[in-house]
Amino acid sequence: MPPLRRSDGVLVLGHVSLAEVARDPRFGTPAYVYDVDAIAAEGRELRAAFEQAPHLVAYAVKANSAGPIVKALAAVGCGADVVSGAELTLALRCGVSPEAVVFSGVAKTSAELDLAIGSGTAGIGSIQVESVEEIPRIAARASAAGRVARVSLRINPGVDKEALDTHSYIATGHDEAKFGVPLSSVPEALGLVAISPSLRLVGVGSHVGSQLTAVDGYVASARALFAFAREIRARFPLTFVDAGGGFGIDYGEGCPVRPADFVRATRALQVEMGLGDLALYCEPGRSMVGAHGVLLASVIQRKLAEGRRWTMIDAGMNDLMRPALYQARHRIVPIALDAAASVSAYHVVGPVCESSDDFGVHDLPDDAGSSRLREVAILDAGAYGYSMGSRYNGRAMAAEVFLSGGKVIGATPRSPAEEWVQDRLRAGAALV
Ligand SMILES: *Cc1c(COP(=O)(O)O)cnc(C)c1O
Repeated sequence: MPPLRRSDGVLVLGHVSLAEVARDPRFGTPAYVYDVDAIAAEGRELRAAFEQAPHLVAYAVKANSAGPIVKALAAVGCGADVVSGAELTLALRCGVSPEAVVFSGVAKTSAELDLAIGSGTAGIGSIQVESVEEIPRIAARASAAGRVARVSLRINPGVDKEALDTHSYIATGHDEAKFGVPLSSVPEALGLVAISPSLRLVGVGSHVGSQLTAVDGYVASARALFAFAREIRARFPLTFVDAGGGFGIDYGEGCPVRPADFVRATRALQVEMGLGDLALYCEPGRSMVGAHGVLLASVIQRKLAEGRRWTMIDAGMNDLMRPALYQARHRIVPIALDAAASVSAYHVVGPVCESSDDFGVHDLPDDAGSSRLREVAILDAGAYGYSMGSRYNGRAMAAEVFLSGGKVIGATPRSPAEEWVQDRLRAGAALV
């Protein structure tokens, strides 16, 4: 995979100069730029790690829902993990087959369940049950549709939160999390599924958290999941076990493991535990797209006050929310490097009126005479960037630029300010 690199001081992604993209009047900044080929290669590499074993790589669409990206992953044989009816519809229209979709989420509406149950000839691959209370709701919708809905039980394996090397907001598989069925409720859940003729339990799953940078916690959770699958498979016709997503990427502090390492370790354990005939599912989001996207921003101005140095850029927390939401740190670098410029530590902040609109302190070139820092790139912004974006403060949604084969293959223009103004003026008008 061609990673982000520098050529003659200028950042290059997917063989395209990011200085040219940032200065192209068709896009402007802030702009997300994605290397679609590298994303497809992630999909191929992860699928190859399963060797010939039955599997499904269900891409977690919420990480980055852009059509060209979901399509590219579908084209290399990935399925989709969706968390809303809209994501389900998007995945299907991007070429994912209904069979290859799993639907997660703790509060699926009846309309969303109907959509999942009614997709294709037999509904989607599986609806992931996240609570006992959800089971009769799914059963009733399936029964009303005259179909048998395939479901999987997302168990909460009770992995100790402290043992997971991730931020507490993105840890999901511990026993206080809102996600999944806790082990204490599993017997009741199984009993309910067993007496529901409109449900077929085809899988069991778990998802421990996100940005895991070691395989241990993931494999420990898979061990508990597999033990559970072994226990119930005589009673239920399981076809798969789903170990979830959460594979970490290198945000600058390192990530010694690749997504394929998680898969190989989990598959080996699965075979060792006598479940080798079941398909192994995983649900990666971040690792498929995170490193293959950058957010380009222009420097609006610098500020020197009370001994602090600030760099104000035209991208804010509405464009990339992770720092404000999870105290995440993204590397920020100049797009074009001026080797002669001196470097200082700057607080990099956006224009949004919130103190949390702060991307942290970064070493950046100083301005001197006519040599000014014009644009920066916020690295590893391909996951949970645009998809979490908002128009808070009347800001535009950022542009998106898609690269493939060494050139720009498509772009989403920035949403015009006038669109937001019209939308807000229309607020409340519908029933008058
Ligand atoms: C968000 C999510 C994922 C993807 O997590 P990543 O950390 O992006 O890999 C997988 N499964 C479920 C159920 C999710 O909600």
